[in-house]
Amino acid sequence: MDITLLEETLEGSGEPAYRARQVWEWAARGAEGYDAMTNVPVRLRDLLSEAVPFSTLTVVDEQVARDGTVKTLFHTSDGHPVEAVLMRYRDGRRSICVSSQSGCPLTCTFCATGAMRFGRNLSVSEILDQALHFRRLEELDRGGASSLTNCVFMGMGEPFLNVDNVLGAARRLPDIGITHRRTTISTVGWMPGLTRFVDEVEEPIRLALSLHAADPVLRSQLMPVNDRYPLPDVLAECRRYVALRRRKVFVEYVMLEGVNDSPRRAAELASVLDRDAFKVNLIPYNPTGSDIKGSSRDAIAAFKQVLDRAGIPATVRLTRGRDIAAACGQLAADPRPRISA
Ligand code: SAH
Repeated sequence: MDITLLEETLEGSGEPAYRARQVWEWAARGAEGYDAMTNVPVRLRDLLSEAVPFSTLTVVDEQVARDGTVKTLFHTSDGHPVEAVLMRYRDGRRSICVSSQSGCPLTCTFCATGAMRFGRNLSVSEILDQALHFRRLEELDRGGASSLTNCVFMGMGEPFLNVDNVLGAARRLPDIGITHRRTTISTVGWMPGLTRFVDEVEEPIRLALSLHAADPVLRSQLMPVNDRYPLPDVLAECRRYVALRRRKVFVEYVMLEGVNDSPRRAAELASVLDRDAFKVNLIPYNPTGSDIKGSSRDAIAAFKQVLDRAGIPATVRLTRGRDIAAACGQLAADPRPRISA
């Protein structure tokens, strides 16, 4: 729902200021439409149905994976594709992965999103409408018995290239039931946005860094952005976050066979991190149709052992939704390919 348009429309018809809040709260609790908003006068509901589309996004395609993961392809009103994912866990957690841009201007070599055409930054409302879509889905499926618990900004795009809108959306997530402590923003290390995040954000929102290689030559090969913002500067900024916010930064490290997965690469990684500030998440590589192969389970275990011995906390990320190309790095907004696990 376009929140600015909502506010303008209500103001324009002489409504009190609390109305916009009232309507937003209904939407945030998973209401299906304006008709459900029983404490809003009928004439106003009619007016809103005419003037303010209930969502800024249209659902174009939706797939459900064997593990219950849902991937939705939306279009913005000007036709840009956006994908988002809902992950359901046995312990009741419901985690959503949202996009901050349509496509991505960065060109990390292993990521499918980087290969598609970049569209534009998404607005606050376009980001929130991804979350509201899944909120409604859960409301329908479980009658509100369970709701969304976690949100990661790990879908399409680089969140810190769109920092104002990402923060604007993150700040409203608690209304949908997702606290700041359960909200994570992931970045390649885009310094201008990262610095603002560290300086300005007082809410306990979590930070994740896509690192992927500690060696500067290799990291630049995998992530050309490394030439612009070298890793040591980015890590220094992350340490500032840790010192100010007193919470660790998650390090994402995608495991690519024969590229960045040897014990030597693990030792390099351990040498640039400190155990009190970082927690490593090893990500099994998800196929994207390129020549790159993912590391074997043994290679991942050996890599983790080096980190364990160095005292760097590390876990291996559970892969979800691979059979519908909904896993990390597979979001490319093409409803056709069905990449199998
Ligand atoms: N641009 C931000 C937000 C996207 S997060 C960032 O890069 O941090 C998406 C995560 O999935 C990133 O860590 C990314 O490097 C990782 N990823 C990309 N392609 C992948 C793939 N094919 N398999 C597994 N992880 C991948």
